[in-house]
Amino acid sequence: MSSHSAVDVIRTKRDGGRLSDEQIRWFMTAYTAGDVADEQASALAMAIFWRGMEADELATWTQAMVDSGERLDLSTITRPTVDKHSTGGVGDKVSLPLIPLAAACGVAVPQLSGRGLGHTGGTLDKMEAIPGWRAQLSNEEFIAVLAAEGGVICAAGPGLAPADRRLYALRDTTGTVESIPLIASSIMSKKIAEGTDALVLDVKFGSGAFLADPEQGRELARTMVGLGTAHGVRTTALLTAMEQPLGRTAGNAVEVEESVEVLDGGGPEDLVEVTLALAREMVALAGLDVDPAEALADGRAMDRWRAIVAAQGGDPDAPLPRAAENDVIAAGADGVVQRLDAMSVGVAAWRLGAGRARKEDDVSATAGVICHAKVGERVRAGAPLLELRADDPSRFAAAHEALAGAWTLGPDPASPPPLILDRITPD
Ligand code: URA
Repeated sequence: MSSHSAVDVIRTKRDGGRLSDEQIRWFMTAYTAGDVADEQASALAMAIFWRGMEADELATWTQAMVDSGERLDLSTITRPTVDKHSTGGVGDKVSLPLIPLAAACGVAVPQLSGRGLGHTGGTLDKMEAIPGWRAQLSNEEFIAVLAAEGGVICAAGPGLAPADRRLYALRDTTGTVESIPLIASSIMSKKIAEGTDALVLDVKFGSGAFLADPEQGRELARTMVGLGTAHGVRTTALLTAMEQPLGRTAGNAVEVEESVEVLDGGGPEDLVEVTLALAREMVALAGLDVDPAEALADGRAMDRWRAIVAAQGGDPDAPLPRAAENDVIAAGADGVVQRLDAMSVGVAAWRLGAGRARKEDDVSATAGVICHAKVGERVRAGAPLLELRADDPSRFAAAHEALAGAWTLGPDPASPPPLILDRITPD
């Protein structure tokens, strides 16, 4: 490979040019090897932020990120492999019921997952609220659990798309996270490296999501579906609303509890709707003719949950930890909830200890927020609206501050806007 100058690569993009395939491959290899400085990678990220990338340029960029590390080999798995990724939201615990549900339908779900940062939670943090459950598996254990149980949830190891790992940490500190090509390549490089045959994306928009505007969400979804397809991963996406929290809980143990309710045939309607819609997409991508609603209703999904939890050391029968303290916020008047802001609830849960401000921080398994009333529900003055939970009651004041103005009560009936706005498939 010929050598390039990092400054020339940065200048090309800064001036609105297209990076050649050779420039991209050189840059990613040199960056991974430590031969390109972090400030040069930051400058390139900022140039991409402003100038964007063409579709084939982005495909090469993503491939170069995949090639910076290992690619898992799932060829020994006899069932079709389909993973799911959500761009993240408040109360988004969908992976917990969805993975066993898809497994119960005949899919193998190889989920390499992340931890929460800021106001959105992470699947691993939630699962770790289950006594004994272990997020770290070797590649061999990952494949063994997937083959035996039809689903596995595990922390992505350092060997997977290492260039993304470094770049994402830089983007976090240089104001370059919110770029559609950079988000799409970051997410898709990890999913392509994971080796899944197919992928369903849940792209969220609204107050509690990465991108507030549905048009931006749609563009991100299209970009990721295009990237997956270009790399041989059959990919579809649903665009789903995140104006108010999904379900009634935001936190770790509280979200596990609610997920188990769904697997038991109950749970909040919105959570069930999104879980079933994504399960249908996964089953269709796997080419299976199975109705996920039946696998949920007849207990097969619950059986898979118990097996998947136990295979990673968790005790599905152990009581979940519960916070020592709670603080109820009551409705000030009779009325119907017109609005419940997802971001405010997410920040409150984070301040109670459910999330982390920096990657190194620990999270509390028990902290969280319960939404006793959601949009369209009628409450009486004095009835509970929100409940805060924490082991450390000194955290309640900051959570209350986050929730100031987070809801509106009014006399008129209200209904939440549609939960699933669009479905994006390859062109
Ligand atoms: N999640 C990722 O993995 N990467 C991004 O850039 C944004 C969200």
